[in-house]
Amino acid sequence: MSDIATESPTRDTDGLETFGLFIDGEQVPAASGKTFESNNPYTGRSWAVLADGSHEDVDRAVASSRAAFEGTWRPMSGFQRAAILRRVAEAITDNAERLALLEVRDSGKLMREMRGQLLGLGTWYSYFSGLADKLEGRTVPALDPSAYFGYTLREPAGVVGAITPWNSPLLLLTFKLAPLLAAGCTCVVKPSEHAPASTVAFAEVLHEAGLPPGVLNVVTGWDRSTGEALAAHRGLDKVAFTGSTATGAKVAQAAVANINKVTLELGGKSPQVVFPDADLDAAANGLVAGVFAATGQTCMAGSRLIVHEDVRDELVARVVARAEAIVQGDPTEAATEMGPVANRAQYEKVLGYLQGARDEGWTIATGGVPNDDLGGLFVRPTVVLAGPDATIAREEVFGPVLTAYTFRDEDEAVRLANDTLYGLAGAVWTKDVHRAHRMASAIRAGTVWINAYRVVAPNMPFGGFGLSGIGRENGSAAVDEYLENKSVFVELTGGTRDPFKLG
Ligand code: NAD
Repeated sequence: MSDIATESPTRDTDGLETFGLFIDGEQVPAASGKTFESNNPYTGRSWAVLADGSHEDVDRAVASSRAAFEGTWRPMSGFQRAAILRRVAEAITDNAERLALLEVRDSGKLMREMRGQLLGLGTWYSYFSGLADKLEGRTVPALDPSAYFGYTLREPAGVVGAITPWNSPLLLLTFKLAPLLAAGCTCVVKPSEHAPASTVAFAEVLHEAGLPPGVLNVVTGWDRSTGEALAAHRGLDKVAFTGSTATGAKVAQAAVANINKVTLELGGKSPQVVFPDADLDAAANGLVAGVFAATGQTCMAGSRLIVHEDVRDELVARVVARAEAIVQGDPTEAATEMGPVANRAQYEKVLGYLQGARDEGWTIATGGVPNDDLGGLFVRPTVVLAGPDATIAREEVFGPVLTAYTFRDEDEAVRLANDTLYGLAGAVWTKDVHRAHRMASAIRAGTVWINAYRVVAPNMPFGGFGLSGIGRENGSAAVDEYLENKSVFVELTGGTRDPFKLG
């Protein structure tokens, strides 16, 4: 997190790591020379100084990515791009420990989680490398096959502006970057001001692995004007955004004003539906993974427990026992299971929702307060017993808060699960295979897990219904989000045709 810049712009930055913008294959200062500091939410102290990019820097980065698109990346064969992506995959694995530590310092997330994410990230680049040399068009039968031959080409969309959030910067960038690079596009990324450092270091790793200069540029910036300048830039062909629904709407408006394509990966309020025949230990485990992992700061957090009334007390008791045993503390320690909330604004937002639940008269089964033993930005893992109309059951908290309420039959379970404006993910817990598949079909969400939670893979599409977004990341079709289809008609007779006849 980085809430120091506006408080002490002249602070002594000795001893802090420094990161520039990354443009044309090297770190450079912002045109203005301005910097901002990134704060470690666990220690509460600044640990890095970053370049504070403005619209001038965004202009420069977009021009560089345009030149790389026209001059290097687009003309390269898919086979050459695939070879570079395979080297990128290896380099990420080789640098996983260092990159993971940067993310931990910026966001307070657990080292064991970020190490796992970074060690898995290379798979995305190797998976999409396998698609880079398979961007085939089709031959299409003509209306009059004796007169015309038709075929299609799949061509890269061009320069992509990517805007990412603070909760898993490199994973969420990779959901965009791996397919867009495979497609032959280039990219300017604006990481979150709350966790910007790892993206600069990542771009350097990719450059050293052989990604040509300008194919990936990074512009960091302290306030939202940097993101606004990128989203509205006329030099782009597409904008790919991950973040909150409110910001996503603004980014989409800016992009569409330039008739640019948009992918949006936004928020969620995902249901976990537990039937009475479920393995309650497995369900409790999935609930813990779904809402307390990453301190609940994931878009796919399973934050609504919709449980059959017959097993509510038993399941809630198990989840409460698990929640109370969670080890909070230093994110770099192997034993720690939950770190702090990533920044003060988010911490206050979470506590505000908990106070709101109390004010509305709901029961806090456990947690609901800061962890005073640790101070700082720690909130205790929380379970709230509420009704489906509670504010805390309807709005995205983005913190370690599970809200539980009951259903009586399958129809009611479906109705409650879908009673949300979001539709990112959901889970069903049951041993009945028929019911499991009925529920998977009935839940309106981009991903449904059966007796599992929080699994993503490069080859499975990820994205949302409703307010959770537009488009899909991951899966082979993700490459299509970065391609244009072109139709080519070839005249076969060599003769002159009636100029007033169509086709
Ligand atoms: P955010 O919307 O506040 O910020 C996201 C990014 O947008 C940041 O880089 C920010 O600097 C930038 N930004 C802010 N205002 C902008 C503007 N007007 N124009 C252009 N850019 C602007 O989100 P956040 O707080 O960083 O992340 C948390 C949110 O992200 C949650 O709602 C969460 O659900 C969502 N999220 C979604 C997914 C997904 O894949 N669906 C994944 C992770 C997080």
